[in-house]
Amino acid sequence: MRTFSKGAAPAELEEYRRTSGATWNSVTGGTKKVLRSAHRREQSGVCVYCLRRLPKDTDAAPAIRIDHVRPRATHPELTFAWSNLVASCLGNTSRKDHCDPAKGERAIPLHPIETLGLEARFEYRGGKIKPAKTGDTDARDAIRLLNLNGNGLVSMRKSVLDELRRRLTPKGGGAFSRRALELQLARVKEDDSFAPMLRQRIKKKLQKKLR
Ligand SMILES: [Zn+2]
Repeated sequence: MRTFSKGAAPAELEEYRRTSGATWNSVTGGTKKVLRSAHRREQSGVCVYCLRRLPKDTDAAPAIRIDHVRPRATHPELTFAWSNLVASCLGNTSRKDHCDPAKGERAIPLHPIETLGLEARFEYRGGKIKPAKTGDTDARDAIRLLNLNGNGLVSMRKSVLDELRRRLTPKGGGAFSRRALELQLARVKEDDSFAPMLRQRIKKKLQKKLR
């Protein structure tokens, strides 16, 4: 996870929430499409929970889910609050689901908009995610509820790390210079899958250079 910032709510959402008798289930397909596009822009095209790149919608079905961070069941007053709405992947990359489908109607202890400094709360090892500090039970519980170490996600992270390893291996052998590593770090974009993991990996290599 990392912390995302929110912009203004799309006008369509504001308009709809003022309609009398408005319920989430009766939001039209057209309005939901507008909301999905707005979320993709705000989240640089990645899932708010696992941070992998969100697949493109197909004509048959959307490839993302709009999630209420604080569930509608316990926080009905936040049903249309833009600050409570995020975009999650469908989580179906393996038999064990993750992200919104895994957590369902349960609340997670960390809020991807309101909890500041989320990126630093997690570490990555061998494709797995773990709390950066032992004893960070909120980070641990968020990983468990979202099933962020499901087989599908771990193997996706591993292949992204393999690709990074290739990028960080100079063609003629040897090791990258500090300057080259800094350039690679600057090249990590928010719309890359698992950007925080990539940043951590490159920073670790840089720290070794500084020792
Ligand atoms: Zn996800």
